[in-house]
Amino acid sequence: MRSINRLFLGWIGAILSFLALSTVTYGQSRTVVIDAGHGGYDRGGVPGQRISEKDKTLDVAQRLRRILTANGYRVIMTRDSDVFVTLGARVAIANSNPNAIFVSIHFNCAPRSSANGIETYYYRSDSASLAASIHRNVVSGAPSENRGIRRRGFYVLRRTAIPSVLVECGFLTNPTEGNLALTGDYRQKLAEQIARGIRREPATSRPLTASLKSYSLGNDFVRVPPESSSGHRSSKHGRHHYRKKSSDSDSSTKSKKKKSED
Ligand code: ZN
Repeated sequence: MRSINRLFLGWIGAILSFLALSTVTYGQSRTVVIDAGHGGYDRGGVPGQRISEKDKTLDVAQRLRRILTANGYRVIMTRDSDVFVTLGARVAIANSNPNAIFVSIHFNCAPRSSANGIETYYYRSDSASLAASIHRNVVSGAPSENRGIRRRGFYVLRRTAIPSVLVECGFLTNPTEGNLALTGDYRQKLAEQIARGIRREPATSRPLTASLKSYSLGNDFVRVPPESSSGHRSSKHGRHHYRKKSSDSDSSTKSKKKKSED
């Protein structure tokens, strides 16, 4: 009898420690704060951009909510309609959910229509694996360049006290990625891939989609004239609202200047 009790207690202990471990594991939360970038008068992107970013981010966010909710997640949205929400308010919503993770959804833009690809950002070290998981899955579901995972002190990544990731789901200023983003099917695919990343599922192999290079690139997606070809190439790419400093040149000046994007 005593040995049965001991066995029983042993099992309970094992189950409890497993539960404790799985909730402690960074970024494995069952609560997700979804942040649809921009909104209201802030349409996102560059001036004159044909496709507005704010409604695409909201649509992907809402699709992601549906998927996660169906998977038993608790979801909080920083916005659920076309309203302007300050970065501070977004962070406050995140931080009022201490056991959650924060996933910010954006699309990229660039003066040059040829810029394309997926990039994912994080800042806190406890967000790195979540960023990698989301990034791998989104890239595997997109016919786009892999622009990599980057550590940057964007406001919503630096001021949030929970694991936080910002994913740029492609360039709306790129004809191919812009046209894809206009379709509900593709936005659903993006949401599904982000959800896979949140669930820490392995990335599937890349679909056999035509490479972006095989598409002809028009200029109608950006009305602003292209940058002069001299210098600053990378710093002009993917400039973004969350980067409050426009001098966002990367690699070369790595840790030299502490970013002050708030
Ligand atoms: Zn954005």
